Amino acid sequence: MLIEDVIIIGGGVCGCSLLYELSRYRIKTLLLEKENDVADGTSKANSAIVHAGYDPPPGTMMARYNVEGNTLMEQLCTDLDILYKKTGSLVVGFDETDRKNIEKLYVKGNKNAVPGLRIVEREELFRMEPALNRDIVCALYAPTAAIVAPWEFAIATAECAVKGGAKLEFNAEVTGIKKENGHFVVVTTKGEYRARFVVNAAGVNSDIVSGMAGEKFFTIQPKRGEYYILDTTEANLINMVVFPCPSKLGKGVLVAPTVHGNIIVGPDSTDCPRDATESTAAGLEYVAKNALRSVPSVNLRASIRNFSGVRADAGIEDFIVGESKRTPGFFNIAGIKSPGLSASPAIAKDVAGMLLDKGLDSTPNPDFVATRKVTRFKHLNDDEKKEAIKRNPLYGTIVCRCETVTEGEIVDALNRPLPPRSLDAVKRRCATGMGRCQGGFCGPRVMALIAKHANMSQIDIPLDKEGMYIVTGRTKGKRGL
Ligand SMILES: Cc1cc2nc3c(=O)[nH]c(=O)nc-3n(C[C@H](O)[C@H](O)[C@H](O)COP(=O)(O)OP(=O)(O)OC[C@H]3O[C@@H](n4cnc5c(N)ncnc54)[C@H](O)[C@@H]3O)c2cc1C
Repeated sequence: MLIEDVIIIGGGVCGCSLLYELSRYRIKTLLLEKENDVADGTSKANSAIVHAGYDPPPGTMMARYNVEGNTLMEQLCTDLDILYKKTGSLVVGFDETDRKNIEKLYVKGNKNAVPGLRIVEREELFRMEPALNRDIVCALYAPTAAIVAPWEFAIATAECAVKGGAKLEFNAEVTGIKKENGHFVVVTTKGEYRARFVVNAAGVNSDIVSGMAGEKFFTIQPKRGEYYILDTTEANLINMVVFPCPSKLGKGVLVAPTVHGNIIVGPDSTDCPRDATESTAAGLEYVAKNALRSVPSVNLRASIRNFSGVRADAGIEDFIVGESKRTPGFFNIAGIKSPGLSASPAIAKDVAGMLLDKGLDSTPNPDFVATRKVTRFKHLNDDEKKEAIKRNPLYGTIVCRCETVTEGEIVDALNRPLPPRSLDAVKRRCATGMGRCQGGFCGPRVMALIAKHANMSQIDIPLDKEGMYIVTGRTKGKRGL
């Protein structure tokens, strides 16, 4: 009977970065994910900001993990070739009440040991960001804030972990957890798996999974946030992440650049069911009104996409991280709302340390994969492009015209560990379909490449999750594709 050392439930940024951390050691780890790819929950639908760390209450795990995670994230993005840019952020204030709040954030940030915080006044502020509303009186500047591709962070860490020997099962929804002969039996829709330790990183379902292990001490109230993504034509609007003063609803509606050259605008915050990722007229109206207040020239007519993400809010001003009291060996990484993306590398390091303290083998894994390199044709200079095409002629065929993604990059992704099996899984790896036409032109060609490479029928290739099929068969001639 195969007994893993650790089973991780959930392949978001928390589960994947823990899988990566544990792959440094000779530890048998298995990650169970209910969807057909990693980062298919909240980790693909958020503001994509690596927060500096002035917002969480001092003394909380949230504050410590945020500030440590900010530093770790930068290093990991360099090592694993993940799109990342240290832009800095501004919290802008419109009056003396806002100024007082900004001063409080500055004090809080210093208590949290956030480096380089400064309150900037109008003249300097408008030099930094000319598009800001001229009614703004001052701002908190945080130079360590950054932007990142959050799904890429999960994919890169999971890919390296799997290359280093860790295991990952997709389409394996955990439905029960029991204890048998001193180890855990994790029951899934795909079968049963056994482990000495279980880590719950199930995002908005983390309370349900915790309950399966007999730990029912918190409840997740999901909170949806909605967004606009603006075309790359708007890229020059701003350089930094611009927030209003935070309120009890959260950090407020931000306007920020993305690592793919777009502008992101959002989110709001409303209670919702766990899987309610639709966009609503009311939510988008709220977002538009608040974004225009900070940056009046935001051109929402250049929107190419709306989306929403769901926060896992456990109703406390902290994360729930650590070993369960009633069920030894069962660990929670739960209630990971914002700044969970920023904090995830630090949470992973801490939880890996807790597991090692329980007696897991700390011998270094000789197969540990510490670095990764990805070809992004669009980012190469002319000489590098010629060289790449000489090396692999498939880099000479453009598949996605909006984002200049080549066949070579898609085939690279299909050959890496965790090969994508849906249109959106290719999108998360290569940026196909992320441009103005949203996959209208490249979609069928990407499907054909997946089908050829994975020896699948195009009928079996979903847009994203299993069951989200795009084609159902031929309308004329022989059935089947
Ligand atoms: C609107 C919004 C904006 C945000 N902005 C930021 C930001 O700018 N910066 C920042 O730092 N943080 C931000 N966050 C927070 C951040 O996105 C989350 O904290 C982070 O993504 C949580 O990651 P996770 O791995 O805990 O959860 P998830 O990404 O949700 O992963 C959980 C995984 O578990 C799987 N799962 C669930 N149930 C089961 C089951 N029973 N069996 C198997 N698998 C299961 C899910 O499919 C999912 O893949 C934002 C969140 C939202 C919603």
